[in-house]
Amino acid sequence: MTSTQTPLERLEQTIEGHQVDRLPILILTKMFGLKQLGIAVNDCLKSSPDLYVKSQRHCVEELGHEALWAFSGIWEINEILDPSTIKDTEDARLVHRHYLNSIEDVKSLPGLLVKDQGKIPWVLEIIKKLKSLSENRYPVFGHLSMPFENAFMLRGNDLYKDLIRSPALVHQLLEYILELDLQYAMLMRDAGADIIWGTNPTVNAELMSNKHYEGFGFSYDQRFFSTLREKGIKTMFHACGDWSGRVDKVFELGADIYYLSRHFDLKEAKKNLGDRGAIMGNVPVVDTLLQGTSQEVERQATACANLASIGGRYILGADCTSPRDTPPENMATIFRVAKEFVLSQGER
Ligand SMILES: [Zn+2]
Repeated sequence: MTSTQTPLERLEQTIEGHQVDRLPILILTKMFGLKQLGIAVNDCLKSSPDLYVKSQRHCVEELGHEALWAFSGIWEINEILDPSTIKDTEDARLVHRHYLNSIEDVKSLPGLLVKDQGKIPWVLEIIKKLKSLSENRYPVFGHLSMPFENAFMLRGNDLYKDLIRSPALVHQLLEYILELDLQYAMLMRDAGADIIWGTNPTVNAELMSNKHYEGFGFSYDQRFFSTLREKGIKTMFHACGDWSGRVDKVFELGADIYYLSRHFDLKEAKKNLGDRGAIMGNVPVVDTLLQGTSQEVERQATACANLASIGGRYILGADCTSPRDTPPENMATIFRVAKEFVLSQGER
């Protein structure tokens, strides 16, 4: 089938619920792309933005991928507050010491403008270069850590005790991070990001009650997404892990794309979301993309598309972050499924 739309047009039309030329697909290739060129994470972080951009160029130009993913969401706020709390390895950037020893330390957090701090100029340069590489054909994604997730990276497991013992200080911390996140999102948009996205597994149903989710998770994430929407910025939320009992709240966050974990029933999710955005998912990354055969990838991806593509507003995708070690033939298969899938012209 011949494509008549660019991946960026196809994605924008899908979010709006309009008819598209074929099934859109998004697979996060930040780590996979580095692996294809044999680039270690610590070397990438030490090098000029060009090295990372080269890995994303390889994904779209050589492998036929359909989006450009910035190397962001790497605990930039932790690094700005104290670079010695961060450690880079060949495989990942890690927080090896929490910045906040006590929740009382929130009272002495410095006032910050993120613009020129830490790795942020490096990330913004990557986004500018990806935007130029895109020539408006591919969507450019910028990722950041949502408020509670970032608070967790600053404070660790004790944050869950703090929200019971010292809720006011936890709120103070979340307000502080929300402000920095909004600054950072605007900088990414100005650098050329088409879609800003985040995930928040630290507030899902595995980790806190619905009541705590409403106060400490939902309220901040919803303010983040609604502020960006008011500014005309498109967004994506990855509902990572189990959100049972709070799915209705998830779809009230105000994001444009909901990137759904394996715990979501795609049909139900689509009905629930209605015309408020698009859903994406949920081919299993571990069982299928990483460990399955190419035939299994084809079967699972086709099953997801059959379940959710009728009527539009669906993007073929994985159920979580695609692993760096995903076999290239499996990655190629899921893209082939999207390109060959025959969209049913159901009601839109
Ligand atoms: Zn996930």
